[in-house]
Amino acid sequence: MSVNLHDLSSPLEFWEYFEDISKIPHCSGNEGKVREYIKEEAEKFNFETKSDNAGNILVIIPPKKEKKSIIIIQSHMDMVCEKNKEVEHDFSKDPLKLKVITFDGKKWLTAEGTTLGADNATGMAYSLAIMKKIHKGDLIFENLEIDLVFTVSEESSMSGALQIDKDLLRSKTLINLDSARENVITIGCVGALLTYVEVKIDLINVNQIEGKLQPLEIQITGLLGGHSGGDIDKGRPNPIKLIAKILKRLNQNNSIYVKSIDGGSTHRNALPREARAIFYVKNEDIKQLKEFFDGLVSEIKKEYSKIDPNIEIALVKLESNPEDFLYSKEFQDKFLDVLNSFPHGPISMHPKFENLVHSSTNLASIISKTNRIKIDTMQRSFEKTSYKEISDKIIDLFKNADLKIKFRQMGGFGEWNPNFDSPLLHLTKETYEELSMENIIITAVHGGLEPGVFRLNFPDLDMITIGPTLDALHSPDERLDIQSVENFWKIFIRLLRKI
Ligand SMILES: [Zn+2]
Repeated sequence: MSVNLHDLSSPLEFWEYFEDISKIPHCSGNEGKVREYIKEEAEKFNFETKSDNAGNILVIIPPKKEKKSIIIIQSHMDMVCEKNKEVEHDFSKDPLKLKVITFDGKKWLTAEGTTLGADNATGMAYSLAIMKKIHKGDLIFENLEIDLVFTVSEESSMSGALQIDKDLLRSKTLINLDSARENVITIGCVGALLTYVEVKIDLINVNQIEGKLQPLEIQITGLLGGHSGGDIDKGRPNPIKLIAKILKRLNQNNSIYVKSIDGGSTHRNALPREARAIFYVKNEDIKQLKEFFDGLVSEIKKEYSKIDPNIEIALVKLESNPEDFLYSKEFQDKFLDVLNSFPHGPISMHPKFENLVHSSTNLASIISKTNRIKIDTMQRSFEKTSYKEISDKIIDLFKNADLKIKFRQMGGFGEWNPNFDSPLLHLTKETYEELSMENIIITAVHGGLEPGVFRLNFPDLDMITIGPTLDALHSPDERLDIQSVENFWKIFIRLLRKI
């Protein structure tokens, strides 16, 4: 089933470009064809383009008369490529299958079984629609140069924003179109630091322990997880922390000998959803341990019954292996203490915005190797000093426990501190008010946005993030509110006229 573009909303040019882009594969790291498409479209209308080594592209649209100011309109070319398991789709060549659905009483555009890539094809389509309309003479800006900037790899490393050439950012005013709510003006975001710790394990062979032993595995599954920025305040449990708590309590009750702990995923943007641990216990203790374990599990399930209702925690018997190496008793006690004290979740709230987390940390993954344990974490904050402090405290936990570690602190940029005096913000707010938009929300996000990354090399850019309404981003349910495309277009053009 194909979509009749004339039945959607206006402007038609937006939908034409949106459909064209949906036919061009453009997962992160694979933006070449979209970039080529943008370049061809621009050259078709005789607009100058510039590319940089990072893979970003700029289209320059000069004003009709004398140039008095320049506005940068920026979007990203890449999309998150996710599909439902049962769907056959090759993101490297297949076009997306667009369709219109009704949801919550509204009409939405979505893609069959895959992400829609409206994040951020909407940004590209608005930019190109403006370009085409200016070319046709439908839109005229007497004194404003419009610079369309399209970046790469926003959804992966943000390398486009990080490495953008200064020749591509020719103004101090930038509108980023990577928002997901028509009525929201975003004026800030957090920066992030990645903290890796590698712990050396003190090992003993299973044969060094007297008595007959049985290996068991704890498996925790079914957690909701979510985005490590946007969902960090939901109070969802971290399965790695749950495993640490269970192991510590079991250890206090019976003697257990831990072999390994694994959990989460190395996608540090995701909250972990699963964890498992293998440990040995003396045969004579199994019955008592099982009873104690069952009690603990029902306690945990009750505690999270409203927040994360589908948690499954199983205890499974394994085959014993004489080659197995286990944590020494001393190491185990220290390590379980550290893992139990390990911070996860919001650390503080933003003083100026209601319900917005200021600083947080995500215990993203733990991976057991033969003689070491690798731990991956991510700290976010609006202040550089805050995420660094949280990271340092994590390192100190290990040091204070006298554990042998190697660690790395990486990243440490991206914060975009809200500027309430921003001239661009005032113009934008005024525009929204003139169109009597209800419930205008001026906010910041506990997640990463490209403007935060631009600030590292261009500290005096005045920026906002705006755009139409999208839902279920990064999932096969991703959808674009069709009416909001038109609503936002009106806001956007009116705002450009004020600049
Ligand atoms: Zn995006």
